[in-house]
Amino acid sequence: MKINRNYENIQDSYLFTNIAQKVRAYSEQNPRADIIRLGIGDVTLPLPEAAVTAMAEAARELGVQETFRGYGPEQGYGFLKDAVREYYAGRGVALEADEIFISDGAKSDLGNILDLFDADNTVLVPDPVYPVYVDTNVMAGRRIVYANATAENGFLPAPNRAQQADIIYICSPNNPTGAVYPKEGLAAWVNYAKEQGAIILYDAAYEAFIAEPGLPRSIYEIEGARECAIEFCSFSKFAGFTGTRCGYTVVPFALEREGAKLNKMWLRRQTTKFNGVPYIVQRGAAAALSAEGRKQCLEHIGYYRENARVISQTLDELGVWYTGGKNSPYVWLRCPNGMDSWAFFDLLLHEANVVGTPGAGFGKNGEGFFRLTAFGSKERTAEAMERVKKLLSR
Ligand code: PLP
Repeated sequence: MKINRNYENIQDSYLFTNIAQKVRAYSEQNPRADIIRLGIGDVTLPLPEAAVTAMAEAARELGVQETFRGYGPEQGYGFLKDAVREYYAGRGVALEADEIFISDGAKSDLGNILDLFDADNTVLVPDPVYPVYVDTNVMAGRRIVYANATAENGFLPAPNRAQQADIIYICSPNNPTGAVYPKEGLAAWVNYAKEQGAIILYDAAYEAFIAEPGLPRSIYEIEGARECAIEFCSFSKFAGFTGTRCGYTVVPFALEREGAKLNKMWLRRQTTKFNGVPYIVQRGAAAALSAEGRKQCLEHIGYYRENARVISQTLDELGVWYTGGKNSPYVWLRCPNGMDSWAFFDLLLHEANVVGTPGAGFGKNGEGFFRLTAFGSKERTAEAMERVKKLLSR
């Protein structure tokens, strides 16, 4: 018996544990401190009414003999795939229903997709980024190289033709930096992937936060992407489904490598290892994509966007450099006075009782930066920013 020794190479993720420990220790010593948490990446508003109603109805259907359903199609019900297809068609991206695979969220699919690729591949990951991309590949023993995202390139690295890569991760709007690629930036990656024969794994989990017209919300808005990209998306941030769990992955029919069709491989993988998302949840997700559902989701997103605006405005007033906040729930700021990201964390916690996320937890280029999220309440976000203003203008 041999275990997968690659697990020994995964770096322990101390980030959120460390944050929790520091906040707990501070609260114990200062029991009256009113701490505001702007570190979380989870939503706080309740589910949109359209999704709740649809899920309640679906639950009742399952309790009636005539409308009971057991196992569903592994790749998702037609009604939800059609709803996703229409969602894309609304912004000019034509997909076939069978190019869309419904899942229990983007995180699972981002990890599971790696079943389709040999361990002997070089993976290019932006730094800093959502840690799942690195850890899932370390588990499989793949070589990882990094694309440096820095203040100089607006945290939007461009491809480096001297760098060989087989699998390329792009996250736009980015977690943690909130930076969003314009069309030309994505087109450069598509061209590079084609030259390399590589596949882009495009994480669009935050696409619904893009407000600026002209910024791409799907990689398939870029010509040639169907031959080189798989797209992952989620109802988590769009419809508040972080706990309800639903997402989808698009694997175009046109995507082939070494004579194999990736869509066929993914279908085979999913039908073998996955038994589908609950019917009730899929009904809720489809309702979120209905005209009324979208309106409700956009109201919630608008609420978070207003928080992001308040955070950004405060930083503007303080003259603090940042990315994100406009087309993303994340604001990524440079720690003032050259502080490192944990020192700034401590300062904010101790002097303003505000909790954020140190950038160093997202990769080496995150050192010296800090993430604030817009997922809190309006009142608490405004209060937190008042405190930050007071602290940093001292
Ligand atoms: N991708 C990114 C960039 C994320 O930040 C997250 C969650 O925070 C996910 C994917 C996970 O999405 P899901 O809830 O659909 O698994």
